[in-house]
Amino acid sequence: MTIDSALRDAAVAIAASPSLAITGHVSPDGDALGSSLALAHAARRAGKEAVVSFGSPFAIADTLSFLDASPVVPPDQFPKVPECMVVFDCGSADRLAELGSPAKAAKTLIVVDHHVTQSDFGDIKIVDSSAAASAQLATHLLDALGWEIDPVVAQCLLTGIVTDTGRFQYSATSGDVMRLAGRLVDAGAVPDTIGQHVYGSVPFGYLAVSAAVLGRAVLEEDLGFIWSLVEADDLKAAQVGTTDLDGLIDDLRIAREAGVALLLKQTDAGWKGSMRSRGAVDVGSIAESFGGGGHHNAAGFTAATEPEAIVESIRDQLRA
Ligand code: 5GP
Ligand code: MN
Repeated sequence: MTIDSALRDAAVAIAASPSLAITGHVSPDGDALGSSLALAHAARRAGKEAVVSFGSPFAIADTLSFLDASPVVPPDQFPKVPECMVVFDCGSADRLAELGSPAKAAKTLIVVDHHVTQSDFGDIKIVDSSAAASAQLATHLLDALGWEIDPVVAQCLLTGIVTDTGRFQYSATSGDVMRLAGRLVDAGAVPDTIGQHVYGSVPFGYLAVSAAVLGRAVLEEDLGFIWSLVEADDLKAAQVGTTDLDGLIDDLRIAREAGVALLLKQTDAGWKGSMRSRGAVDVGSIAESFGGGGHHNAAGFTAATEPEAIVESIRDQLRA
């Protein structure tokens, strides 16, 4: 199925359904949340019922609280058998936690995603791994539906674009992406608000956590590999939650000597790894080796094994 025919099919299915159930990957980032809210707000303007939720642990990062989240409901209020369900920024049902079951039961399941890692999931797949953000594909979907991009919708979409391009610096930042951002600003999105909340606002305790985590970073110069750990005790002492730490990998990765960075965060489900690389090293496939996935230069996973074993396995893969 080409992207254009998938967009057409998705628009027909959405237009025919009086209600939409919308989600994205667990612990939604700016792209998953922004894309989901954008479609929900636009659908409500078009006279449809639309709800958004995310699987457990259900939480929306404080840094994203400036977005109008009025369509969001807790996961236990999400329709069990949606007529039409749309999943953003997620290529496999296991990243939906308990919302994987409505995804399975949905009469029509539409997947809108730009991750390389994809499982066989979704009746209609609008998937393009060259897209800079799922929000870019969400905009194409709104255009296919002929739905207006008002200021609220524009702010949601621009948040997805800004966060997933690392503020317009990653390699997928094409001229089209820049033009789309311009169109969204013209439609009423406010870049200053996104910048202040997402990049200019951390709880005070973050400074201590960041100092501790960066201070214990290990550089393995022969492999160009830098890694560090966030232990549960770091967060407890500083009264900081894991959603406050989304930007920490970006501080770790900037060491000039490192081409590959790993940050491991201790969670109830195991060690959540964030990986980043410059250029050639495919961290997406390394993350897949731990049951996760993502993109070539940015990927993640959650592993039940201890940090030493994770780091050793990554060393082996970097040497291969
Ligand atoms: P982050 O390190 O910021 O959590 O995630 C980096 C990229 O990898 C994002 O595109 C994110 O969606 C993806 N990612 C993070 N964790 C996982 C995971 O457990 N499974 C998969 N398939 N992708 C992940
Ligand atoms: Mn994304």
